[in-house]
Amino acid sequence: MTLRNPHKAFEEYLSTHEGRYTLQKRVIVDEIFKIKEHFEIEDFIDRLRADKAKLSRATVYRTVKQLLDAGLIQKISTRDGKVFYERSTPDKQHDHIICNACGKILEIKESFISEYLSTYCDKIDFYPEYRSLHIYGECSKCRKKSGK
Ligand SMILES: [Zn+2]
Ligand SMILES: [Zn+2]
Repeated sequence: MTLRNPHKAFEEYLSTHEGRYTLQKRVIVDEIFKIKEHFEIEDFIDRLRADKAKLSRATVYRTVKQLLDAGLIQKISTRDGKVFYERSTPDKQHDHIICNACGKILEIKESFISEYLSTYCDKIDFYPEYRSLHIYGECSKCRKKSGK
């Protein structure tokens, strides 16, 4: 699987959305696209600071928001209010199953789900820009522990 060059895609997005692609943003995008897991923004900021870059928290938040709008990352929210992000591209968007007890995040990547959803949107003449499907519940380990 090859990701489309995120820099090129982001630059295109910014050129039509009031933004300049600054060196700071490039550093942030580089770092985000190195992370293969779901990550929390505050952990990401700590990691950036430990590494090198003196980037302001506001710049990181703004860039993450713009990456989300550009479809280059996905956002996952847990039921207790934690927010995770992960790198993505519009053709690779997928859905998540989240355990409310242990916080584990599983991924649903079956392509027939994407196909079905895009057919459905076509049918009702809806143009999808971003998709985020979450299923909350309890994983098998946690259910065993709680005796359900
Ligand atoms: Zn669990
Ligand atoms: Zn994911």
